[in-house]
Amino acid sequence: SFPAGMRGDHALIIPFTTSGHFIPLLDLTRHLVLRGLTVTVVATSDTLPLLSPLISDHPSSIKALVLPLCLEATSGWNDLTSCTRTAIRDLGTLHGPIRDWIAGHHSPPSVIISDMFAGWAHRLAQEVGIKSILFSPSGAMALSVIFSLWRDMPRPPPADKEDTAFAFPEIPNQPEYPWWQLSGLFRAHREGDPVSEFIKEAFLANSQSWGVVVNSFNELEGAYIDHLMKMVGHGRVWAVGPLLPVEPIVSSGQRGGISSILVEDLVSWLDSCGDRTVLYVCFGSQARLAEEQTAALASALEKSEVNFVWVVREDQPTKVALESFEDRVAGRGLVIRGWAPQLPILNHPAVGAFLTHCGWNSIMEALVAGVPMLAWPMGADQFVNATLIADQLKVARRVSEGASAIPDSDKLARAIREFIDWEDCPERVRADVMRRAAADTMGHGGSSSENFDKMVKHAHV
Ligand code: UDP
Repeated sequence: SFPAGMRGDHALIIPFTTSGHFIPLLDLTRHLVLRGLTVTVVATSDTLPLLSPLISDHPSSIKALVLPLCLEATSGWNDLTSCTRTAIRDLGTLHGPIRDWIAGHHSPPSVIISDMFAGWAHRLAQEVGIKSILFSPSGAMALSVIFSLWRDMPRPPPADKEDTAFAFPEIPNQPEYPWWQLSGLFRAHREGDPVSEFIKEAFLANSQSWGVVVNSFNELEGAYIDHLMKMVGHGRVWAVGPLLPVEPIVSSGQRGGISSILVEDLVSWLDSCGDRTVLYVCFGSQARLAEEQTAALASALEKSEVNFVWVVREDQPTKVALESFEDRVAGRGLVIRGWAPQLPILNHPAVGAFLTHCGWNSIMEALVAGVPMLAWPMGADQFVNATLIADQLKVARRVSEGASAIPDSDKLARAIREFIDWEDCPERVRADVMRRAAADTMGHGGSSSENFDKMVKHAHV
């Protein structure tokens, strides 16, 4: 469907290694290939397995550029920010090797599309005289807040005044956010550490990229996409979401990881539940609850008496909190330890609500499925995302807040019960409106699909 002239254009993709960043950028890559581009994806030994299915489907148009990189494990919520900082710095060591690779290539890329955590790639693109596009795995509102933070560099409050609020008056409809809710990477910088200047430079470079592509859509975040265009001073900001796999959703069980449960078993369990009776609980790929948090949540799920699927990370402490829990909820509750096939779950008619940490991908996936959310933002851009989905779009209700919060299990049980039982609750009605908008925007003539075409056309040299 793409003009013949674009065929064979070569793009270099630089992903960040964590699932929430890697998954949507791989989806974008597949869409680029379907529009006739040749793509090289920078990979490490860790990410190569995730890339392999894509390469075997399109062996002549996708190549991996595997570069040696030793990333420290990014696990453990307590020092998640420091793990992320280390990983950002380590990825930055690829600047030189990638520049050398481009210089020696017989048909070098004409554009680099790089993750938000690889901001150095925009300088690299300038050095070799090609275009660069920032890929934002965060939404447009969150990206606006991130840009404002790094540009304005607000000062941290004293340690005992973490509740001091920060406003973003130039961004439309923003509440104030307490200091502790601002991006962990940003707070770490203000508290001073050796990696910080590199990270600051990279974020500032992001706001000076040639173009910006956001996993969002105009009907969802139009005001913030307009705001981003004002911030970067040009109109090359393309909302192309919701980015999804190209294969049918039921067969996307291995997206981003190998499912810890047979998708067919899970689906037949869900088939045995009534429509909209199941709560899906998952806090993304990074968060690990402490034992007391797991205990409070288990107790809430038990008291709520609703059906549920709960994803618990394998390296999360659960010994005490989940002792005999699964026996007590047998038949109505399923605990998945490890990686869950999130898309097939969210899109199953039995799933009626999603208790989420408000990671941007999870939000987009819930909107695609028309599933209303219970919001428990924990870190990163999730507090900003919660503002969008709970206070503005009203497709979610807040139930908890903060990475170390221990919810009151009685209150949480009641909130869950009410949400599942109330068939026409406003959030469910609104979620269904967003589901249709999301389907339309990706369809023929929809704004995201047209924006995608515009992006590819602009990137062409
Ligand atoms: N995901 C999944 N199975 C899991 C956990 C996460 O498929 O058990 C996927 C989820 O569908 C989403 C991504 O991993 O695409 C998580 O991204 P998100 O932005 O929601 O959160 P993060 O992991 O970045 O905190």
